[in-house]
Amino acid sequence: MGIFSKKQKIVTRFAPSPTGFLHVGGVRTALFAWAYAKQNNGKFILRVEDTDKEREVEGSVEHIMESLKWLGIIWDEGPDIGGPSAPYFQSKRLENYKKYARILVEKGLAYADPYTEGELEKFRKTAEEEHKAFLYRDHRPENPPVWDGAQALRLKVSQIKSYEWHDLVRGDLKAGPEALDDFILIKSDGYPTYNFAHIIDDLEMGVTHIFRADEFISSTPKFLSLYDALDIKRPEFVTLPPIMTPDGKKKLGKRDGAKDILEYRKEGYLASAMVNFLAFIGWNPGDEKEVLTVQEFVSLFKLEQIHKAGGRFNEEKLKWVNREHLLMLSDDDFKASIEKYLSNAIKNSPLYHSIITKIIPVIKDRVSVACEVGDMETSGELSYFLQKPTIETEKLLGKDNSKESTKIHIEKIVEILGKISEND
Ligand code: GLU
Repeated sequence: MGIFSKKQKIVTRFAPSPTGFLHVGGVRTALFAWAYAKQNNGKFILRVEDTDKEREVEGSVEHIMESLKWLGIIWDEGPDIGGPSAPYFQSKRLENYKKYARILVEKGLAYADPYTEGELEKFRKTAEEEHKAFLYRDHRPENPPVWDGAQALRLKVSQIKSYEWHDLVRGDLKAGPEALDDFILIKSDGYPTYNFAHIIDDLEMGVTHIFRADEFISSTPKFLSLYDALDIKRPEFVTLPPIMTPDGKKKLGKRDGAKDILEYRKEGYLASAMVNFLAFIGWNPGDEKEVLTVQEFVSLFKLEQIHKAGGRFNEEKLKWVNREHLLMLSDDDFKASIEKYLSNAIKNSPLYHSIITKIIPVIKDRVSVACEVGDMETSGELSYFLQKPTIETEKLLGKDNSKESTKIHIEKIVEILGKISEND
């Protein structure tokens, strides 16, 4: 398959921008990239794409790392552990990008952008008046200034070249020359754009397969023009299908419940269930199986079985999967996962330790998510197990309160109870 011989080590990466928490979309991309590397004894890299300082949110990197660790998506190289291509923060790799930028300048394939915002605005206006699309390449300066890092650097794209490429999920794709304009490689603040930086990093880090969301398909001609300009062998593209709302009508956004993945951990979802659930958004093993352990997923995962069409995000399904995974737990593990949702009052009850193990089999199949035992406690369902029964002794006394009549009365009750349980 593709241009990589079987002997070449598979290298995948997850390259988030630290602009907030990680939600299901990002985690699913990381999961697939990781699983593919693991399955092939390859390498999975975590790289932080922090070149847009304005959008950066403090604490995101730690949050992203914690989310991945929770799910067992462990990187072989990354910001915290280093590796042969360190550093793994793009903001610390600026010199590398400049080195390749200079190569492009020397080849006559990149030039400094001499225009002010006002001048660009004028070009835009003229294009609008002439009912034409504004293309920067139509205004290429004849004698651009020497690039000294103070101006933006743009790639001189071909105006006639069409691009064709193969995506391991989407198949053969193509775009005409109109898809490209002279795009920016390095901004005037000295930071590279995503379009440029990830190409250089993927090259230097030996990435063989790029797993990413479908919103990058339209930019792929830009990436291809850079591979060509720098004589870089193209990696394999693995475009993942979008994650859709439960009704399948639109892409899942934050408003539709694309929440922070660690919220699920807080609610007591099991990491193994979350992995199982995410694995089935846009992939399935081609049979009826719906419950998989992480190891089973890693060994069954096949790129050919990734769907082209979007996969729905359905929290009810997640709950169902979680319940299945809870049922697979040993009683001790089940106890460990529910315990933190019980109040101290219940945990400090003198009966707690002797009874909790006995009641686990009874409540296990009634819980979909660990936090639900908290609700069971609040509604009083658990007190039945944990409080000593109170006996209203007067109801057991015989007619005349004598020992004899009480004995007969109790024997009758026992007889009735015996019949009830026999009939049940
Ligand atoms: N930094 C990009 C993002 O977070 C990553 C895209 C890619 O995987 O190449 O959207």
